[in-house]
Amino acid sequence: MTKATKAAKHASKAEKTEKKGGFDEIHILWISEGMSCDGDTVSMTAASQPAIEDVVLGLVPGLPKVNLHNKVLSPTLGGEEYLAPFRAAARGELKPFILVIEGSVPNQNIIQGEGYWTSFGNDLETGEPLTLNWWIDHLTPHAWAVVAAGTCATYGGIHAMAGNPTGSMGLADYLGWEFRSQGGLPIVNVPGCPIQPDNFMETLTWVLYHAAGSAPPPPLDHMLRPQWLFGKTVHEGCDRAAYYEQADFAKDYNSPKCQVRVGCWGPVVNCNVPKRGWMSGLGGCPNVGGICIGCTMPGFPDAFMPFMDEPTGATFSSSLIRPYGAVIRRLRGITNMAVNREPRWRHDKAELTTGYDAHWRA
Ligand code: SF4
Ligand code: SF4
Ligand code: SF4
Repeated sequence: MTKATKAAKHASKAEKTEKKGGFDEIHILWISEGMSCDGDTVSMTAASQPAIEDVVLGLVPGLPKVNLHNKVLSPTLGGEEYLAPFRAAARGELKPFILVIEGSVPNQNIIQGEGYWTSFGNDLETGEPLTLNWWIDHLTPHAWAVVAAGTCATYGGIHAMAGNPTGSMGLADYLGWEFRSQGGLPIVNVPGCPIQPDNFMETLTWVLYHAAGSAPPPPLDHMLRPQWLFGKTVHEGCDRAAYYEQADFAKDYNSPKCQVRVGCWGPVVNCNVPKRGWMSGLGGCPNVGGICIGCTMPGFPDAFMPFMDEPTGATFSSSLIRPYGAVIRRLRGITNMAVNREPRWRHDKAELTTGYDAHWRA
């Protein structure tokens, strides 16, 4: 049986799996051949809510059967065997599928056919490399959903910083912010450099439940991020926030106090990592001594550089809070001394001094 026949057979089988209101089986085509370091794939393998293994093995109740095609996690050895589902999907013969893009999208137009910035497999007829842009152009019209994994894919990230030669951008800049997939969804952006493992898997799982017909579309904000994950700031979930409120600021990185004066951007960055931790609830940038450099944000990295300098505006706000913090700290110190001792009526003297009123016994 030829590869094309196999793919067509697979496609018709997959189409048959669509039941009323959802799918029983779906493919995930994951391309990390953008301007990428593969860090998001690596990070995703640390997820536990749910773990990718549980999703692929069908251990999460209510999800469609998932066929994952990711080069790092692929059971195939690569080459044409690995590329076959991608080629079939580009021909419209493999449905339904969720396309995951990792890494930013370079601008091929600026080199006008003279070479390429990044590629994934070769054209079978010409032998020429197929660019990431080619794959996006050919896959997105057929994709049931499109997910951008990591800040490079969502907004451009490190490769798209000022002065770069590639003209890199995020997926929505490339496809248009009004893009809608076959499933009627906008691009689902999960930023982070890299993605927080459970943030990504939780979002993917929501999309899969939606594909199964048992959940509404995931709610996204104006930058297409999951609202429930990116609706609060780092500062609002930081273990050190009480130090900030009391204007107790670290002077160096060896301190457990608030790090705003040594470069933390947490008060203005949308990210839940301090609340969620990094792996199994542990870690979380400022919680464990790392300043927040705004890696989830559309303006990353330029807007947050130079890293480790006091953020713009922080001098003003942290100076404003100083007198309030000093008074509050002093008053709390006094109250703390008062409540940090036992009441005076707890003694073994002959007289009861608790204030007990015995008049009713008479
Ligand atoms: Fe690597 Fe960060 Fe870009 Fe992901 S967002 S590909 S981790 S540089
Ligand atoms: Fe806010 Fe950063 Fe200070 Fe935490 S360390 S309280 S996020 S400024
Ligand atoms: Fe990135 Fe800041 Fe979130 Fe850490 S806390 S993951 S640096 S946005």
